[in-house]
Amino acid sequence: MKEYDYLIVGAGLYGASLAYLLRKAGKRVLVLEKEGHSAGICHQEREEGILVHTRGAHIFHTSDEEVWSLVTSMTPFRPYINQPKANYHGRLFSMPFNMNTFHQLWPEVETEEDARRKLAEECAPYQGIDEGTVEGWCLSHIGPTLYETLVKHYTEKQWGRSCAELDSSIIRRLPLRFRYDDNYFNDAFQGLPEQGYDALSEALLAGTKVVYGVDFLENKGKWMGLAEKTIYSGPIDALFGYSAGTLSWRTLKFEKETLDLEDFQGMAVMNYTDDTVPWTRIVEHKHFLGERSSRTIITREYSDEWTPGRDALYPVKDERNLGLASRYKEMALKEGILPGGRLGTYQYLDMDDVIRLALDDGRKILS
Ligand SMILES: Cc1cc2nc3c(=O)[nH]c(=O)nc-3n(C[C@H](O)[C@H](O)[C@H](O)COP(=O)(O)OP(=O)(O)OC[C@H]3O[C@@H](n4cnc5c(N)ncnc54)[C@H](O)[C@@H]3O)c2cc1C
Repeated sequence: MKEYDYLIVGAGLYGASLAYLLRKAGKRVLVLEKEGHSAGICHQEREEGILVHTRGAHIFHTSDEEVWSLVTSMTPFRPYINQPKANYHGRLFSMPFNMNTFHQLWPEVETEEDARRKLAEECAPYQGIDEGTVEGWCLSHIGPTLYETLVKHYTEKQWGRSCAELDSSIIRRLPLRFRYDDNYFNDAFQGLPEQGYDALSEALLAGTKVVYGVDFLENKGKWMGLAEKTIYSGPIDALFGYSAGTLSWRTLKFEKETLDLEDFQGMAVMNYTDDTVPWTRIVEHKHFLGERSSRTIITREYSDEWTPGRDALYPVKDERNLGLASRYKEMALKEGILPGGRLGTYQYLDMDDVIRLALDDGRKILS
């Protein structure tokens, strides 16, 4: 009999949630993590008394009652409503698009009826055009003014490609809200862990053996030999030395600055939607939890091409990459390894989705 029932590679929210479920079921679990901490890309560090999101701001939102009840039973959460703003040449607009945005753009628009009429007028000249690209879809669904002010340059900065070429699938779910309501998410629950995401992942991992600072891929055979089954939440192509090809990602460059100011922008997230500013957004960390400090810390985010070795953040879901990811998945399953999490399944998953995936995978494994 092997020393462990399960080996889980990665102590991000996927690995930590799966470890929690399996350990609670009485299984012997070993977690390997190559970094010196858990929480994966949700990892935070405290500076100047402020919890800083090291790889992109993370706001927890979900309508999944089981997931919400699990995370809030692990560590206290503080309510937070995400109401980002867009800055276009110094003019501020509400996001996501709602009655506030429409009124800010067209002051004569006050009611839902006004807004629908205005949008119909804006879109009228573009009916029947090709909706396969972001540009075509936007012109025929939201019209040229909203498109130019809030979508075009932001999306081009994000993807490094022209909206006239980008596939409209990335924008088709863009919500239009006909209420005066700036709450970005539609979910029932929203907040952030008061002590940070590391506290959440550590609580999930409490009682589980975790080895930090070890790269599973440097000695796959040895680690797999310790457990009956392996679950892997690292990059799926790295598992096979990229032998069938490398999966593509978009990444972000983060530029952090500590300022001798109590407050820089008066809110947590400001998006920059024109093309004269190279960054896509500025995050001011203290506003997520209402932390008090005489200084403040901001991070400018720039979207960037991914190259191996950089943080793999957003999968590029085209035919080639999706085909390659499913080929790697088959190869992993053949070796008796279950791929999981955002990197193992090559998907963009919100935190609640990744915890849901871990709970579902765990139950399947136990059944
Ligand atoms: C920029 C950005 C912002 C986001 N903001 C939000 C948000 O506001 N709200 C939201 O709900 N979701 C957000 N998400 C999604 C969220 O980050 C993910 O759902 C979640 O972090 C995925 O967890 P994971 O465990 O699958 O992956 P990860 O957090 O990437 O964890 C994988 C772990 O595996 C480890 N690992 C990898 N390879 C090996 C190896 N060979 N050996 C040992 N360990 C290994 C890594 O070090 C890492 O700790 C955001 C994502 C991004 C990219």
